[in-house]
Amino acid sequence: MTRVLVPDHIEGAAPLLGARLQRLRGESMGTTWQVLWADRDAARQGALRAAIEAELDLVVGQMSSWLPTSDLARFNAAPAGARRPLPEAFAEVLAAALWLADTSAGAFNPAAGALVNLWGFGPAPRYTDPGFAPPSADAVRAAMPATDWRALRFDAAAREATQPGGLRLDLSAIAKGHAVDRVARRLRAMGVAHALVELGGELRGQGLRPDGMPWWVDLETPPVRAGQVAPRATRVALHGLSVATSGDYRRAYLMDGQRLPHSIDPRSGQPVAHGLASVSVLHADCLWADAWSTALTVAGREQGLALAEAHGIAALFLQREADGRLSETLTSAMERLAG
Ligand code: ADP
Ligand code: MG
Repeated sequence: MTRVLVPDHIEGAAPLLGARLQRLRGESMGTTWQVLWADRDAARQGALRAAIEAELDLVVGQMSSWLPTSDLARFNAAPAGARRPLPEAFAEVLAAALWLADTSAGAFNPAAGALVNLWGFGPAPRYTDPGFAPPSADAVRAAMPATDWRALRFDAAAREATQPGGLRLDLSAIAKGHAVDRVARRLRAMGVAHALVELGGELRGQGLRPDGMPWWVDLETPPVRAGQVAPRATRVALHGLSVATSGDYRRAYLMDGQRLPHSIDPRSGQPVAHGLASVSVLHADCLWADAWSTALTVAGREQGLALAEAHGIAALFLQREADGRLSETLTSAMERLAG
């Protein structure tokens, strides 16, 4: 039976009478986006597309690891001791990322860019490049000291950060969620109260579908091998709610028969390898759903569960057991959503 998750809070906005489902799609951040909303006609499509693209471009321009001219790339390239003013969105996301780094004792680490790059998940060289080789133990050891997020001096009030030297920020595990939040808020500010925003599998829903139903979304589930039992399907009413799923099956490569996922454990310098197939997190803000799903994936089921419980996070863990079966665990906040 499908598990159904519904929020305990119902938003005020009345359904839009006579509305139909409208849709826009595009590409950003190396992935695709999609916005569905309830409107009487398609007259606002042009204005909404421009607004959506402006929000996505703002996040890319400030926080992309791939764009050499982004504020983040320029901070990364700055010499030791350089103090840089940060634009507002960058500073807001960095503050959240640093809080989660402290809270997760470095399982989530926005200063792990050098490691991410060594393992082929940064701008260059990519793990998909011909001749790419994973890093040696020495190379990993040499990269570790510059991943200490506590060495970054960040003045949130003044919105200034000081490059301690060689530190490489990577906000890829949180910036997508923030972009989804920005788009949803911008839509609301433009009078679009009923919308579903999706970017690379991360979603945020507000209001209702034109038929008066909430925006129902099925959680992504990892593929199962032939003969194995598929995990229980979970359907969420994204009503004032966001969801993000981190999974080892999404972006990973095989090396010596071992899957190397793109989540790196900055505490060991190694790709995570404790058998979590996926972690889904529900949160009012997509920024937190996104960041927590990565933090809990890196922490692993045992530590991750304790961390999520301590902070009231609604999370669903799917663990690959030794016999290949997937076993699931829900935090109590997630159990509550399941009624
Ligand atoms: P997922 O959808 O699997 O959560 P995301 O795109 O949200 O993936 O985040 C993965 C990216 O986050 C990686 O490609 C890397 O750039 C960065 N990253 C990897 N490990 C960590 C970590 N421990 N803390 C913060 N960011 C990380
Ligand atoms: Mg993430």
